[in-house]
Amino acid sequence: MPASAKKKVVLLGATGSIGGSTLRVLRAHSDKLELVGVAASSSHRELAAICHEFHVPHAVLSDEAAYAEAKAANTFPANSHLGCGESGLIEISTLPEADIVLVAVVGACGLKPTLAAIEAGKDIALANKELLVLGGAFVIEAAKRKGVRLLPTDSEHNAIFQCIEGHPQQHLDKLILTASGGQFRDAPLKSLAKVTPADATQHPNWSMGPKITVDSATMANKGLELIEAHWLFGLEPERLEVVIHPQSIVHSFAQFIDGSILAQLSPPSMTFAIQHCLLYPDRAPGVDATTDFRKAFQLDFKAPDFKRFPCLQLAYDAMRSGGSAPAIFNAANEIAVERFLAHDLAYLDIPRVIDHTLEKVETSAAATLEALLHIDAEARAVAQSF
Ligand code: NDP
Ligand code: MG
Repeated sequence: MPASAKKKVVLLGATGSIGGSTLRVLRAHSDKLELVGVAASSSHRELAAICHEFHVPHAVLSDEAAYAEAKAANTFPANSHLGCGESGLIEISTLPEADIVLVAVVGACGLKPTLAAIEAGKDIALANKELLVLGGAFVIEAAKRKGVRLLPTDSEHNAIFQCIEGHPQQHLDKLILTASGGQFRDAPLKSLAKVTPADATQHPNWSMGPKITVDSATMANKGLELIEAHWLFGLEPERLEVVIHPQSIVHSFAQFIDGSILAQLSPPSMTFAIQHCLLYPDRAPGVDATTDFRKAFQLDFKAPDFKRFPCLQLAYDAMRSGGSAPAIFNAANEIAVERFLAHDLAYLDIPRVIDHTLEKVETSAAATLEALLHIDAEARAVAQSF
């Protein structure tokens, strides 16, 4: 790409929390970045507004009813082509003019569009972790084969990526992921039985979508991130650790074989990681103010309590089992959180659903993508019937 050309970006999940932070980065760096495609599930008015503001030529609504509504309401600009469904997502992820696809949809639905984008030779900025927990082996293999960049946008993985860049793999000892511990980090254990969706969708440090906010409370999020780190950085489970860090300023650590530890710091805003990925390997001024050491502040660290966070233990176990176990963990968690948010399950049932699903669905090698998607569907059905 000539130095003067703008990098052309496709944003899947444009109307969400990561989507909104990405739009802030795009506004600040419109001289370097151009939005050529956006997708959402059903928020058609919000997506149309983005198309108007950024003059986006391609948009997709995966939800067919929302697509029909948008067509009838005629809210999109005349020169924005509007597609729909999974085929629309795949089409927009493989646009000939696109350089990079930022995957910020929520859940495993991101897997097929991401694989299609990789096959089409696009670089990927990956915020969505569920797709890597489901299909990590296939995504990593395809990215290597096609020689595309898989840029970690999840803040912990982005931190690690920044810390280990330029260091040979054999110098790396372990990775330590920081976790805020969520909103119930210090709550009396007894009180957890009464947690409501309203309580579990408020995070003390981060402003995020509802699913990941619940995942942060249960620490299923950190479990998913351990598996994500396993795929992105190629380390075995024994070399992946978690530490509770309530302030969310240190975004993770990389420890080297000589005992030196590197960290990346910034305030809890996703714009830092998003911008790092979109401009990579370039850098430019950030859109949010960074950590100011002239003001006194504290950084605390402590080991996680697995009794309080059974989802974290279940994720470790699934990661060690390997094969389809992480996919089963992810599918069960997605359904459990969906049911909890719909007031169909108690908060403390979330780990029970995951445990039950891992017991019921047999773990196998899942050598093909089809086999894996079949197991994913089976696990969702088991979790639904809990
Ligand atoms: P949100 O719920 O805020 O947004 C999700 C976005 O994805 C929305 O634009 C939604 O559209 C769209 N979407 C959902 N399902 C589909 C689908 N089937 N097809 C097309 N679009 C779809 O989620 P977040 O932004 O919080 O999280 C997105 C991903 O990034 C998750 O995997 C999360 O784990 C990860 N992540 C998020 C962080 C954060 O700070 N929020 C931090 C690190 C990782 P619609 O509005 O129409 O529903
Ligand atoms: Mg994270």
